[in-house]
Amino acid sequence: MHRRITGKLVIATHNPGKLAEMRELLAPHGVEAVSAGELGLAEPDETGNDFRSNAAIKAIAAAQAAKLPAFADDSGVVVDALDGAPGIYSARWAGPSKDFAAAMAQIERLLQERGATTPDKRRAHFVSALCVAWPDNHLEEVEARVDGTLVWPPRGTSGFGYDPMFLPDGHGRTFGEMESIEKHGLPPLGLGLSHRARAFVKLAEICLEPR
Ligand code: IMP
Repeated sequence: MHRRITGKLVIATHNPGKLAEMRELLAPHGVEAVSAGELGLAEPDETGNDFRSNAAIKAIAAAQAAKLPAFADDSGVVVDALDGAPGIYSARWAGPSKDFAAAMAQIERLLQERGATTPDKRRAHFVSALCVAWPDNHLEEVEARVDGTLVWPPRGTSGFGYDPMFLPDGHGRTFGEMESIEKHGLPPLGLGLSHRARAFVKLAEICLEPR
């Protein structure tokens, strides 16, 4: 049986970009979101082998520490020509200084080394795994992706992370060139464009009160 989220929810992220997006997505559902950072919760090690288990590790740790339901996302960009890298290591590729210009340049260097110069060889997708954990260990988990190609040089200054390099299928502008409302494409204006919005739409269906 699916469980609904009511009242207060901890958002188990210390990433300000993701926190802002999550608050924006949750606000219309009347959920009061507090962040793990605001509660001073420690960040657990992400020791899982895939997005789904890392999301669960973060949500369970926050739910246990805060004694409240907690919501976590694990996400990243998966590049076909790089055998799935950076994948679950997407944040780490930017290093401690979170230098995503350098991380994008690294991807581009590797793509060039592998002769991936045409769009068909530069396929990639973003993945978002979402998990809500309750203090009694009940879990709700969903996952979604958005497919596209990687462009060079990066384009646009909106969003965060690898957005300026990612051109979603069926669109002429990168995520970095889109306002957040367009990047997410949430209902009623859209059916979900970004990986996180798509996962969120799935989660809303099972866990949130209708808007
Ligand atoms: P984590 O989920 O905290 O492990 O970090 C995922 C990393 O993937 C982020 O730091 C970004 O680099 C990248 N990423 C995830 N979602 C997006 C997105 O929507 N746009 C750009 N980069 C993203």
